[in-house]
Amino acid sequence: MRTKLLVGNWKMNKTRAEALDFAKASIELLKFAQSKQIQIGVTPTYLSLDVVKHTNPNLIVGAQNVNAKESGAYTGEISIPMLKELGIEWSLVGHSERRTYYAETNHTCNEKVLALLANKMTPLYCVGETLGQFEAGLTKPIVEAQIREGLKGVSQEDARHLVIAYEPVWSIGTGKNASKEIAEDVCHFIRTILKDLFGGVSEKIQILYGGSVKPTNIKEYMAMPNIDGALVGGASLAVDSFAQLIENIG
Ligand code: PEP
Repeated sequence: MRTKLLVGNWKMNKTRAEALDFAKASIELLKFAQSKQIQIGVTPTYLSLDVVKHTNPNLIVGAQNVNAKESGAYTGEISIPMLKELGIEWSLVGHSERRTYYAETNHTCNEKVLALLANKMTPLYCVGETLGQFEAGLTKPIVEAQIREGLKGVSQEDARHLVIAYEPVWSIGTGKNASKEIAEDVCHFIRTILKDLFGGVSEKIQILYGGSVKPTNIKEYMAMPNIDGALVGGASLAVDSFAQLIENIG
């Protein structure tokens, strides 16, 4: 039985003061989630990671991105040791906004996934097709390549620490969420690839759906056997909305 997981991706939102307000409120949110045996977390901007982690140390707090290199001449980048120093144990990898605007590829994602796992951190690896690829019927080959190339070289032992998010690009921030049937079909497909790669460990890996998830539609996804939670952007920003997501997740 996989634990349900709800992660709020704040993207480039919230100042440190705003993040602090949410972090204080998240102490009650976490109690509520724990009472329902649900894991919750957020991915603030780098500047707010410490304030959120310090205010609520038991909350999952992840970065939105990380550089695979330990240090060096990479202006503007943040490394794994810098995150670990703040007590951060998770990072998103390959969010579609990073793939689209910052030219991230399956190969660069793979370097990040391997570096995070080598440092005993949890990569929340995001995959998903664009609208054009969806309309051309290419969802599965695209997602398969993202999974196989992005997770290349991951050992069966380390695979236990992976979390995957299926986020069709056409549904992120658009209000056009994928139907629960489409989401389940792709999440099931992802699990079959994970089984091919990692055997029985695949049954332990949490697979989230993301893309215009709201308090009003989260329940339908959670009823599907291969969807173990949600990665939520817009609807994760306000405390009330986050509380409703927890309420309705199961
Ligand atoms: C996301 O940022 O990963 C996301 C799914 O955003 P939204 O929920 O706003 O579509």
